[in-house]
Amino acid sequence: MPKLTDPLRPVVGDKAARRLATLGSGLRTVGDLLSYYPRRYETRGELTDLAGLRDGEHVTVQAMIASVSSRPMRNRRGSIFEAVVTDGHGQLTLTFFGKGRQDWRERQLAPGLRGLFSGQVSTFRGKRQLSHPEYELIGSGAADSARAVEFATELIPIYPASKDIASWQIADSVRLALAAAELDGDPLPAQIRDRYGLYGYARALNAIHRPADERDKSRAVRRLKWDEAFMLQVVLAQRRRISTEYIALPRPVADGGLLAEFDGDLPFELTAGQRQAGATISADLAQEHPMHRLLQGEVGSGKTVVALRAMLQVVDAAGQSALLAPTEVLAQQHHRSISQMLGPMAMAGQLGGAEQATRVALLTGSQGSAARRRALLEAASGEAGIVIGTHALLEEHVQFADLGLIVIDEQHRFGVEQREALRGKAAEGRPHVLVMTATPIPRTVAMTVFGDLEVTELTELPAGRAPIATHVVPAAAKPHYLDRTWERVKEEVAAGRQAYVVCPRIGGEPDGQAPAAPGTAAGAAAERGGQQGRAVGASDADDGGFGVADDGGLDFGDDLDETEQERRPALAVIDIAAGLKQGPLAGLRLAVLHGRLAPDEKDKVMLAFADGQVDVLVTTTVVEVGVDVPNATTMVIMDADRFGVSQLHQLRGRVGRGGHPGLCLLVTEAAPDGPARARLDAVAATQDGFALSRLDLEQRREGDVLGAAQAGRRSSLKLLTLLKDEELIGQARQEAEELVGADPALAGQPALAAAIAALLDAERAEFLEKA
Ligand code: ADP
Ligand code: MG
Repeated sequence: MPKLTDPLRPVVGDKAARRLATLGSGLRTVGDLLSYYPRRYETRGELTDLAGLRDGEHVTVQAMIASVSSRPMRNRRGSIFEAVVTDGHGQLTLTFFGKGRQDWRERQLAPGLRGLFSGQVSTFRGKRQLSHPEYELIGSGAADSARAVEFATELIPIYPASKDIASWQIADSVRLALAAAELDGDPLPAQIRDRYGLYGYARALNAIHRPADERDKSRAVRRLKWDEAFMLQVVLAQRRRISTEYIALPRPVADGGLLAEFDGDLPFELTAGQRQAGATISADLAQEHPMHRLLQGEVGSGKTVVALRAMLQVVDAAGQSALLAPTEVLAQQHHRSISQMLGPMAMAGQLGGAEQATRVALLTGSQGSAARRRALLEAASGEAGIVIGTHALLEEHVQFADLGLIVIDEQHRFGVEQREALRGKAAEGRPHVLVMTATPIPRTVAMTVFGDLEVTELTELPAGRAPIATHVVPAAAKPHYLDRTWERVKEEVAAGRQAYVVCPRIGGEPDGQAPAAPGTAAGAAAERGGQQGRAVGASDADDGGFGVADDGGLDFGDDLDETEQERRPALAVIDIAAGLKQGPLAGLRLAVLHGRLAPDEKDKVMLAFADGQVDVLVTTTVVEVGVDVPNATTMVIMDADRFGVSQLHQLRGRVGRGGHPGLCLLVTEAAPDGPARARLDAVAATQDGFALSRLDLEQRREGDVLGAAQAGRRSSLKLLTLLKDEELIGQARQEAEELVGADPALAGQPALAAAIAALLDAERAEFLEKA
């Protein structure tokens, strides 16, 4: 009996094996085919709604033949045979070209018969058609074929088919494979199947491909979803377990240390959430095993203070902390604000330094060599208790005297490899790790994408935060709204506040280097290969020096729409700044900020803005995450439709940070009834980052989200959807935790261990193929 890992050829024959190898990422083994699930099911006798068909789609529809006609071709020998099929309302024309007369087809496709018709949808002279479709009649003529069995059931599986192989041909092969394959082992432990009333493996596979009825199918799907969720969670639980077996130096709270002093001087009350998260982290740090924690927080919820308190606890315990920021602007800001918050506590060995003090060092990729040498020295000697930096911290020659804690701010820019690189820098054992997300994401997603981390959430905002009002400004339809936008900016400035104007692109490229129009292949490639691959057309907009592609991102720019191919290049900082200066914002103090400025230049601009010497900062998304200037109350986002939903939410989180209400204006030329506009309206309608990240996730394939997940690449999640199967994923996680706790090596679960090994192998192969 062939096993799941055996090749398909002996089971389905040469020809079918060749065709199946062209499907998906290539169906080659019995297991590949059996886990190629139907996309949907046709109910026998129920005709497919033809109105929903879209041009270019490869479809399989169930329909009834309404009429047929045949005519000779005009310019050539041969004939055109047309059959019009119907679902009772709409119609679809099947067109067949033949060298000669096609009488045999006319006899076969008699009006009144029903069948499955499969092909690519196109429109010809205003009529929907399938050109040369494959078909399989249901009923009389089909009764003598082997498929009669298939069609005798109520539900007919419809597989994702291609021009090389039709859905029912796939079904034929599946039938052969199901009959032949050895399906004794069950990867899901018996006690879990019992507890949740789940089908056995063989039964589930049979039922998903050939369900007796709707209920049978649902139970099969549920069971197979469990497989996906459970295996993923077992892998993650094993990883968490391995990492907790590492040794770390405990860094318990010290009495009368810097942390106590800092808490005493804090100008505000910590929120309940900050206190709670702080206590959890503090307890983690006191353990002999490294902490691996994800702190998720709404934009502006005050994650930095939580992290700083953890860093101080480690410094009090004679260790060092490293704070890794995704951009230079953010690293500089952290350095400034943390030094400022600590005051004399950060001035060890300096005039005015407190008796008990440390130092805060800054290390970025492109700082001057003297500053860099000093920072490296302070890190290596241990003089700096806190070292803040960009990816430059990851470089090999950066050394610490005693690295106890790594804080990674705004995680999605950093992958697992980066975390590993930093971990290697601890002198003894492993450092504790605290990861903070830029955008809050649903818990189940976090538990999967960041599955090797424990998850803590910070949902509430500090008291007294004024709300951010967000409005869409339809610049094309209502140009006077745009005038009004600049008026608002001027009013805010007159009231002593400041504003951001954000554009998707820097602009000012030397001749011949103008960015490819977004939406073109080159633009998309630039985007993917871009430093952080963010907003459409904004690949040049980000901070320099990041070698990390944003493959961990939850926040890529929008997926490109084919219909948007002809769009003009995105608005650019340099052009907009010039236009505003001479036009609507003449007389105000404007400055520009973007990734092409030298680092000290960037720092100077940010500093001037933070200090109130600049009224309006015209900028790229370098201010997207983390930037904190409480006096800035207004943000105008140009070409807002070119940014992702979560990204817009992040961006607008820059305003409304002080006590003054924030205002965010989303300027767009997007059509008022299109999907781009709908996304902007959604951003305007809610301030709930979790809700928006949900929307973001719903709109992109989850595989993209999982792209950087440590486990669970696209190939392994076929039925499970992170957003809809939250309960199941939670249960699977708990079960996995228990099982791995009791039997870490899965010695008692050979079928599960084998299935997981196969899964990881497949992922590795897929990963290598992509690399
Ligand atoms: P985020 O979670 O988005 O990183 P930040 O850490 O930048 O947010 O905090 C945003 C602002 O809120 C900062 O100016 C910070 O000083 C302030 N802040 C943090 N916690 C509190 C609090 N408990 N009460 C008042 N303000 C706070
Ligand atoms: Mg932050």
